[in-house]
Amino acid sequence: MNIQMVDLQRQYQKIKSEVDKGIQDVIDTTSFIKGPKVKEFQQNLEAYLGVKHVIPVGNGTDALQIALMALDLQPGDEVITPTFTFIATAEVVAVLGLTPVLVDVDPATFCLSIEAVKKAITPKTKAIVPVHLFGQNADMEALIALAKENNLSIVEDACQSIGSSYTFSNGKSAMSGCMGDIGCTSFFPSKNLGCYGDGGAILTNNDILAEKMRAIANHGMKVRYQHDVVGVNSRLDSIQAAVLDVKLKHLDSYNASRLQAAKYYNNAFQNCEKIVTPITASNSTHVFHQYTIKLIDVDREALQQHLASKGIPSMVYYPISLHLQKAYQNARYKVGDFPIAEELSKVVLSLPMHTELTEDELKHIAHAVLEFLL
Ligand SMILES: *Cc1c(COP(=O)(O)O)cnc(C)c1O
Repeated sequence: MNIQMVDLQRQYQKIKSEVDKGIQDVIDTTSFIKGPKVKEFQQNLEAYLGVKHVIPVGNGTDALQIALMALDLQPGDEVITPTFTFIATAEVVAVLGLTPVLVDVDPATFCLSIEAVKKAITPKTKAIVPVHLFGQNADMEALIALAKENNLSIVEDACQSIGSSYTFSNGKSAMSGCMGDIGCTSFFPSKNLGCYGDGGAILTNNDILAEKMRAIANHGMKVRYQHDVVGVNSRLDSIQAAVLDVKLKHLDSYNASRLQAAKYYNNAFQNCEKIVTPITASNSTHVFHQYTIKLIDVDREALQQHLASKGIPSMVYYPISLHLQKAYQNARYKVGDFPIAEELSKVVLSLPMHTELTEDELKHIAHAVLEFLL
């Protein structure tokens, strides 16, 4: 068995003819930048998500940066983000001279804690960046209410959650990334909708923000060679759009495969006292970008070594919370400030999760985990 954390090779074999044709078409027309394929994918993604504007950009980090640039924040303005996430979420805040204000997370969903956000709001707070970590949505209803009360913008980091949906208490639902003022997603190859290089997109229902962000992503330009605002150069290229347009058609079935694998794991581990399986919040679907368990009184490194000896990879997402990262150390934070995130860093383990896992492989993985723990 050749088990990968993410198996893009086997996935490609199943869609090879479609993908190859899409790429070849772009090469034949040589419209590599801003070609019709990019527009086509953009419109298909808008329809899939039910969102007014998709702005394709170079990667998910750029999407987050451009979103924050569009909010006209001033140096020193505070942006609240969870401490338990991938670095990009806070990185763009720091790069723009804004102040990342980190908050702890909910131990069950791994997403930012609404109570913690409440406590972190100051007169300088201007925006909140919730991260829909591992594939399920943060508690958006409570967060949107809090943002309204305090006149704050919400930029969703939906880099891990594309295709998941959230249901509000009035029964209405929305796709991940389409609930706040702006949503950001990444098409990094291993993401749930991944291309064959770098890519990302900004999502919004706000016409004014959309126009502004389109300009920012294009050197601050609306009319050619007229630069109204300081921008950046961030584009999704046509070859990546061609790959994504093929894979978008399969996204729901890919996410269904992930859910099926997650259910297999949940079932296999349900009677093991040393494993807490991931929960799915009642108001969100889960697209399992990662399948992440919590270990109770287990030597995690030894378990990982045991799995590796059986040809099974595993990963720790994330081993160090952002408030303990050297680049983000300042007078504000010290060890012990965010006990939930710090504890999670010690006990989480992500198992192989992708669209191609077979029942034999899942059985092999679950067996190897349990054999070590029992
Ligand atoms: C992947 C990811 C990003 C960044 O996306 P890139 O396309 O790699 O720039 C940002 N935030 C989170 C939570 C991610 O998982």
